[in-house]
Amino acid sequence: MRPTSAAWPWCSPACAISVIDGPVLNFATLGLTPALVRALADMGLHVPTPIQAEAIPAILKSADVWATAPTGSGKTLAFALPLLQHLLASPRQTNFRRPVRTLVLVPTRELAVQVGDVLARLAYKLPQSLKVNTVFGGVSVNPQMMALRGGADIVVATPGRLLDLIDQNALRLADVQHLVLDEADRLLDLGFADELHRVLALLPAQRQTLLFSATFAPEVEALAANLLRDPVRITVEAFEGHKPDITQRAIAVDEKSRTALLRHLITENGWKQVLVFVATRYACEHVANKLYKAGIFATPFHGEMSQGARQEVLREFKAGRWDVVVTTDLASRGIDIARLPVVVNYDLPRSATDYTHRIGRTGRAGAHGDALSFVTAAALAHWRLIQKRESLELALEQIPGFEPTEAPPPPSPGHGGIKGQRPSKKDKLRAAAAQDGS
Ligand code: ADP
Ligand code: MG
Repeated sequence: MRPTSAAWPWCSPACAISVIDGPVLNFATLGLTPALVRALADMGLHVPTPIQAEAIPAILKSADVWATAPTGSGKTLAFALPLLQHLLASPRQTNFRRPVRTLVLVPTRELAVQVGDVLARLAYKLPQSLKVNTVFGGVSVNPQMMALRGGADIVVATPGRLLDLIDQNALRLADVQHLVLDEADRLLDLGFADELHRVLALLPAQRQTLLFSATFAPEVEALAANLLRDPVRITVEAFEGHKPDITQRAIAVDEKSRTALLRHLITENGWKQVLVFVATRYACEHVANKLYKAGIFATPFHGEMSQGARQEVLREFKAGRWDVVVTTDLASRGIDIARLPVVVNYDLPRSATDYTHRIGRTGRAGAHGDALSFVTAAALAHWRLIQKRESLELALEQIPGFEPTEAPPPPSPGHGGIKGQRPSKKDKLRAAAAQDGS
């Protein structure tokens, strides 16, 4: 079943139905039980997004699914709803300890909290009690162990903490029937290879596996295919033929003028909620500090902060209490900030994939967003590569008062590759270490 409409009807709150190949499309026609449909209606959700329309029936049929769909297009509910239905349909055998039947892996702690919340909110509205536990690192393990006493039906986890809990006998994976890798390409890349390998070895071979992401770089395709059995492959963008409503802009600027330009744009446009991406944790602190001293309510968000501080910043940013959050790629994946209007690439991302995810923090759920990239002379060649990979041709703008004066560096052969196309130094070291170990 494929939506025939050229626009996403679910984007408009006024529209409660859409037409796919003739019949009226709503959550019930996808095969979801009345209890779930009611829970969705309570949350104000009536019309499935295209990825939900495609993935829900396939997952309900117990197929493995490999789904690619744009950022902010509702992938979480696309797997959460049918998986909850599977659990409702097969009541657990024992009241003594709940075996973990569904495992959702995600790459970051904040995403674990977000996905866990979606599942828990839905589960809470269902007639049959289903227990959702969320586990992630950076916080004390003891409360998570306590919460897992008596087991859980669904566990949402970052891989490292999941393995810690397994090592401490707080949970086991032998009964898992459904596995989801959300942001699957990120979980399949080298950074998670060891942990993922260990988790997979503990799972039953007979299970349903679901992979979801907005991107699958060619490097991870083979790994993804290996995990799946006769998967239903769903690629929403290919047939929808359009992307989230994000106005992308590129602004030429000297490296040293970027903070002043950012300040100027924020005040000039009256931006009240801006997510700014930089390359390093140090830059997060530095840029946020400078903005703050200039009277802009800005704060950093990065992996060296305590988990408590991270969660507080995100909560406050979502609530509109910070005007600007300056972050690394830590915040580039999955995080859903409703109607976030502006994303700025102060430093360019390392790869086109990261670019897609970064700008995808805006323009979610049918909302409009703006994504600006600062392009310095030194980064111009890299920007061209990102554009090429993204099939973008943006005019390089100049902002009056901030016209660039720096000349691009001379091209150096063998240098200036884009992440994903050439192995990074870290990738080469890892590959060498893997060879040594084998
Ligand atoms: P993705 O994982 O594809 O990036 P999310 O699952 O985080 O996107 O969803 C993005 C936003 O869209 C969320 O705020 C979610 O509540 C909203 N959303 C999801 N499904 C629907 C729907 N059917 N109708 C309206 N909004 C939806
Ligand atoms: Mg997501």
